Amino acid sequence: MSSVKLPPEFLAELRELASRWGQIAAQRAAAGIDTQPLDFGDMERVAAVLAEGLTEGTLTALVQQRNDTVATEHPCPRCDTVCRVDYQERPLTIDTGQVLPLREPVCHCPRCRRDFFPLRTALRLDNHNVSPTVLALIARAMGRLNSAAQATFALQLARITIRCAQVQRIAQEIGHELAAQRDQKVARQRRRELPVRVDVIPTVVVAEVDGGHLRTRAGDRGPGVHEVQGKENKVAALVTLTSTTSQDDPQPEPPPAFAEPRRVQRLMHQLNGWAGEPPGVPESTGAEAVVTSEPRATGAVVGAEQPPASSGPVRVVRTCVASTADSQAFGPMMAAEAQERGFYQTPRRAFVSDGAAYNWSRNGGRCTRSGCARAGRAVWVKCSRNCGRVRSGWGLCRRARS
Ligand SMILES: [Zn+2]
Repeated sequence: MSSVKLPPEFLAELRELASRWGQIAAQRAAAGIDTQPLDFGDMERVAAVLAEGLTEGTLTALVQQRNDTVATEHPCPRCDTVCRVDYQERPLTIDTGQVLPLREPVCHCPRCRRDFFPLRTALRLDNHNVSPTVLALIARAMGRLNSAAQATFALQLARITIRCAQVQRIAQEIGHELAAQRDQKVARQRRRELPVRVDVIPTVVVAEVDGGHLRTRAGDRGPGVHEVQGKENKVAALVTLTSTTSQDDPQPEPPPAFAEPRRVQRLMHQLNGWAGEPPGVPESTGAEAVVTSEPRATGAVVGAEQPPASSGPVRVVRTCVASTADSQAFGPMMAAEAQERGFYQTPRRAFVSDGAAYNWSRNGGRCTRSGCARAGRAVWVKCSRNCGRVRSGWGLCRRARS
């Protein structure tokens, strides 16, 4: 976003300048301390203090330079009434965790009876007292972690002091903005007005779709569990790949990992969301240990040479679309993302999903990897519950698969 304004050569020059300042500051620090020699922790503390001072001085001066460009009067963006520009203190949390007491111009429009801020749009600031970089960190933390409490803890590890409620509120606002952007794209896609956003049309793509179940609660009741209900979610991964073509099937046999019963057992547990042994399956026995100690000792891979390192498709880019909307609404969301990624212009395409009717009503397909995995899971669960042993259950699985 800022790479055009700040080319790498310019940033390297600034870094070199700051490095020289650091050397001067280190000499000053050594001269000012004549008691005990510093250990590395002390040195880190000195460097951190220097960095904080440099950051504060740089940002304060740069913001002041922008403030100096604002005239003494500014028109209201709604009614064009010319309003006087005042200045107010505005504490802003930045990505180093520092809270800088910045000054920002503010105007009050008597006709609209509202305040407006002449520089906020240009500086990409909003009504939150955090910088755009911290907003991005909050979005990433909330996207990857399971709760606002965990995201807050992660941010605090990064020295960003922020309350859990604020993290939750900001994440909700970002979520609403992203949902609005998504819906606008869907509307443009329906009107055939959505452009392709990639510079190069990919040569190989795959769209993977699967659904799951999650438990939700009422969203407007604050902390705690309210009105728990089960819902289905749908997730689509749109992947750009690199791969070569071949006259022969490059993978005629199932992947070796599918011939290792313990690995398949773990996979099936993960698919079912089991943390430990599945219910109904007894504790591990010596017989299972024997099976485990014989990797690739079953079926088609018995006595076979070790397969060469995989030369299959390599993932380059992946974006995802996820929603609890029904299939009628989810399909257009996926189509809009596919349009932006240039999937409809791609010469080689694949669609991977299970056998749910809504998947194939649009795409018309055949047996897929995830479909096989789901079938394998069903067979595995039945075998393990009926037989109670990994080895005998696996034998049934293999016969069922063949
Ligand atoms: Zn106004």
